[in-house]
Amino acid sequence: MKVCLLSNTPDPIKVIYLACRTCYSKLAPSEMQEVTDEKMVSLIKNTILSGHHSVLEHASFSFSVEGVSRALTHQLVRHRLASYAQQSQRYVEYKEDTLDFVMPKTIAKNYKDKFDALMKEIFKTYRELVEDGVPAEDARYLLPNASTTNIIVTMNFRELMQFSKIRLCYRAQWEILEMVKKMKDEVTTVSQFLANGLQPKCQHLGYCDETKPCGCYKFSTSALEVKSERNKLWDM
Ligand SMILES: Cc1cc2nc3c(=O)[nH]c(=O)nc-3n(C[C@H](O)[C@H](O)[C@H](O)COP(=O)(O)OP(=O)(O)OC[C@H]3O[C@@H](n4cnc5c(N)ncnc54)[C@H](O)[C@@H]3O)c2cc1C
Repeated sequence: MKVCLLSNTPDPIKVIYLACRTCYSKLAPSEMQEVTDEKMVSLIKNTILSGHHSVLEHASFSFSVEGVSRALTHQLVRHRLASYAQQSQRYVEYKEDTLDFVMPKTIAKNYKDKFDALMKEIFKTYRELVEDGVPAEDARYLLPNASTTNIIVTMNFRELMQFSKIRLCYRAQWEILEMVKKMKDEVTTVSQFLANGLQPKCQHLGYCDETKPCGCYKFSTSALEVKSERNKLWDM
């Protein structure tokens, strides 16, 4: 799996800061004076902690995600507030060097040979059908969830936070969890402050609402402790 940040809003902190200031100032955005990074981050932090999250929609991030399974992308595209462009199995006709399969570790442990043989057989039959004139859009019905794919995903920062709350949770499926960790690493190269906000939901809530908690989150005993933990999330 390869995840690269292709593009992002230039100076996302400044755009989000201006969105926050515009809401609470008599000045027009163009009249606002330059302020230090610390001041911008401080206002953004307070605005987020107050629950005013729409300001985060003004910064967006586009990632390329390569060599992941169709099982992953099926989960990914359920997140409706993002934009996607995915390699088509209708228009792309796979050859030996353009289709691979993702093998989970639990299968690799005892069933690697069986898995490999089955994928080889599926691919061989896929090629036979295509070479016999069956259109790729029909031959693809043979292809499994394990088939690799490439996708470009664009999320604004509010959606990226929401997505991380759900998919950075240790209860999320391993492959999508791995992908979000890589997306977070990419955001770190732009802003450590914004990357700090990409956390599983327990870190924002101050408790775990999963029916089967992973046990990683240390439960706070009082509402005040919860609040203080949440505030720390955005500390640099
Ligand atoms: C552990 C786990 C198991 C899952 N199992 C299944 C399963 O078995 N079957 C299945 O079908 N799905 C399953 N899902 C997918 C899940 O139901 C969601 O479709 C997916 O996580 C996207 O979440 P979302 O709607 O919050 O995200 P987004 O679509 O990105 O939406 C972000 C937020 O915007 C708001 N929003 C977006 N669209 C609307 C709308 N139309 N109306 C109102 N508010 C909206 C909501 O507040 C939402 O949280 C599972 C997800 C997880 C994490």
